[in-house]
Amino acid sequence: MFQVAERLSRIKPSPTVVLSGKVAARVAAGHDVLGLVAGEPDFDTPDNIKQAAIDAIRRGDTKYTAIDGTPALKQAISAKFERENGLSYAPDEIIVSTGGKQVIFNALMASVSAGDEVVIPAPYWVSYPEMVALAEGTPVIVPCAADNGFKMTPEQLDAAITPRTRWVILNSPSNPSGAAYSADEMKALTDVLVRHPHVWVLTDDIYEHLTYEGFKAVTPARIEPSLIDRTLTMNGVSKSYCMTGWRIGYAGGPKPLIKAMSAIQSHSTTNASSISQAAAVEALNGPQGFIAEHVARFERRRDMVVAAFNAIDGLACHKPDGAFYVFPSCAGLIGAATPSGEIIRTDEDFVLYLLETAGVGLVHGAAFGMSPYFRLSYAAADEKLMQALERIGSACARLS
Ligand code: PLP
Repeated sequence: MFQVAERLSRIKPSPTVVLSGKVAARVAAGHDVLGLVAGEPDFDTPDNIKQAAIDAIRRGDTKYTAIDGTPALKQAISAKFERENGLSYAPDEIIVSTGGKQVIFNALMASVSAGDEVVIPAPYWVSYPEMVALAEGTPVIVPCAADNGFKMTPEQLDAAITPRTRWVILNSPSNPSGAAYSADEMKALTDVLVRHPHVWVLTDDIYEHLTYEGFKAVTPARIEPSLIDRTLTMNGVSKSYCMTGWRIGYAGGPKPLIKAMSAIQSHSTTNASSISQAAAVEALNGPQGFIAEHVARFERRRDMVVAAFNAIDGLACHKPDGAFYVFPSCAGLIGAATPSGEIIRTDEDFVLYLLETAGVGLVHGAAFGMSPYFRLSYAAADEKLMQALERIGSACARLS
C-alpha cells in the first residue's frame, strides 16, 4: 500500500487550489459559476514579451541555463532593483526560480530547521505557513486587525519575536487583504528588526507595482539599509507583467543565502525555463507603460467592488491600497439562516452558500488565517465582476 511521507502530515493542500477545483467541478456539472478565486491578472501578456520568447526559441535558447538564472536576466533584475528600489544587488546576489513561490520555498528550505520560528502576519498568503511547516519550522501567526488595515503593528512584531525566530515574512501589498505599509509604517517595523539582529526579513514584493491613488509600495532594505545583510527581497513577473504561466520569480539577498537556495534548486528543478527567462528580460527592460494602464483599471474595479460590498447588509469592506483583492468581513451574516434553513456558522459556510446558490466562487478567510472574512479577486472582467456583485447582493438579501 502506498504510504505518504511523514512530512506531508504537516501540511494541507492549498485552499485556493481546492476552491478553484470546486468551482471547476460545478462548471463541469453544467452550473453557471463566476469564479473570482484566481490570483492572476485577466490581461494578456504584452506582445513584446511574447515576441522575446518566440525569438529565444528561434535563436535556440532552448537548453539548460545557469541554475541561478541567465546572465542577461540577472543583469536586468540587478538594474530593476537599482532603478525601482534603490537596492544594489550584484549578479551573484540574485537567484531566478520557477515562480516567486519557488524562491520562497528555496529560501525556507535552505534556512529553517526543526524548532525555528517564522513570524507571519495574518491574513497571509496560504503558502507561507505550509512551506514553513514543510521545512520543519514553526509558523508564528500574528493576527492583524481590520481596524489597523490588516497591518502588523511594531508592538505585535516585537512581541512575536523570540530567540528562536529565524525570519519574519512581510508581504506588501498583501494577498489576501491588499494592505500595504506606508514608508513610515515600514520604518516602524524595521526599527523593531534593527533591535533583533538574529531575525532575517523575507519581503515578498510581488504586488509592488499594483498600488492605487498614488500609494507607493516600499521595501524594507530600502527603508532601513542596515537590514540588507539579512534581507531577502523577493519579486517576480507574474502579477505586474501578466505572466503567471511563465513561472519566473527572483530575489536579491546575501550571497551565502543565495548560494544555499541555488543548491536546493540544483537538485529540484535546475533552472527556470530558458524561454521564460528570455521573456522576463524583455518584461523588465522593455516598455513599462502598460502597467499604469492596468493599475488604472484595477483601481476602478477596486472602487466598484468596495462600494458594492459596503452597500450589502451584513458585509463590511476595507478599502485596500494595493494588489487585486478585497477581504471583506461577513461577521454580520454569521448565524443567519439560508432559505433552506441551514445556518451560516463560518466564513466557509458563507462562501459555499454563495457558490452553490449564487454561482459565485470566492475563498473563505480561514484559508488565509483570519475569520470571518472572505477574499474576492477583482482581477476579472468588469462585466463578470458586476454580475457577481449583483448575485452576492441578492444571495445575502435572502439570508434571514
Ligand atoms: N506571493 C504572493 C503573495 C502571491 O500571491 C503569489 C501568487 O499568488 C506568489 C507569491 C507566487 O507567485 P508566482 O509563483 O507566480 O511568482
